[in-house]
Amino acid sequence: MGWTITIGRVAGTEIKVHLTFLILVAFWGMAGYQQGGLAGAVAACLLLFALFACVVLHEFGHILMAGQFGVRTPDVILLPIGGVARLERIPDEPKQELLIALAGPAVTLAIVLVLSALLALGGDAPRFGQLDPDGPFLETLMQVNLYLLIFNLFPAFPMDGGRVLRALLASRMGLVRGTRIAARLGQASAVVAGLYGLSGGAPLLALVALFVFLGAGAEASAVETRVAGEGLDVHQMMVTHFRTIPVYATLADAVELLLSGEQREFPVVDNMGRVEGVLTRDNIIRGISQRGPSSTVGEAMTTQVQAVAPGLGFQEALERLRSSGLPALPVVDGSGRLVGLLTLDNITDLLLVRRARA
Ligand SMILES: [Zn+2]
Repeated sequence: MGWTITIGRVAGTEIKVHLTFLILVAFWGMAGYQQGGLAGAVAACLLLFALFACVVLHEFGHILMAGQFGVRTPDVILLPIGGVARLERIPDEPKQELLIALAGPAVTLAIVLVLSALLALGGDAPRFGQLDPDGPFLETLMQVNLYLLIFNLFPAFPMDGGRVLRALLASRMGLVRGTRIAARLGQASAVVAGLYGLSGGAPLLALVALFVFLGAGAEASAVETRVAGEGLDVHQMMVTHFRTIPVYATLADAVELLLSGEQREFPVVDNMGRVEGVLTRDNIIRGISQRGPSSTVGEAMTTQVQAVAPGLGFQEALERLRSSGLPALPVVDGSGRLVGLLTLDNITDLLLVRRARA
């Protein structure tokens, strides 16, 4: 999830917009312009922004309810297909997940009701110009919110209906089995919807179905990974047999080290044994091609690497590793001593072993 810009911060949650959303704005504006000139373009964009404000409100329904159960939401991302609130974790109680999943659609329902009441009371008073002569602003906004509500309650991941279904199943058969069954049901219905879309000439439906299919699979494997890693901390996950390289060594030394064993990422240390950075295989290759083999490790390494503590929990460690974009992170204890190396390969091995034992 690179490619995002942060547009604001509310109640500890960053609101981010994916850059592809801007393409949608441009596309939408162009369509409005072709229909009604500059006023049409403005009207179309206003409608789009109003719609996305509604989507943000929907997401904050989830976020505020999650906050009630002590689950933080670091960010919410607006994609052309809707909003995604990235909850820090799924609450342990299925009942809490049920309430969080329902809070978003409840907000959308409230928006639909308020807009309907406004329409019934005053007609479509604030006309900002019209994109479609038959679809004035408030009415269009109300209708799209209604579609959104129905779409979101579809019982498949990653829609809210899928989470409701999972919560209901999980309360009877546990999180992993509940998620697996909810994901399979979601994927099966996505296949049906996708085939219908392709045969019935509704390519957009097929695209949404594909997105549902992939989302369901990703959700199931994320939950399985999370449960497999439950109770683990970095201390148990880290590689303890590894080589380091001094910051003043040459890249020729680094190549020798790289070729002498399986290790591909090396913590870079100074004279005192403190971590200065990480030297990856890519760093070595790029450094040699740009500055030659006699240049130093210090010039080629990745700096500003966030070390992790040995006591850090599984899920957070995994997220730090993923968000760093590096294949390995150094593990440094409270006294600043390098005690291990956190790598995705090692975590994968550990989870395979744990699953085989279970
Ligand atoms: Zn939602």
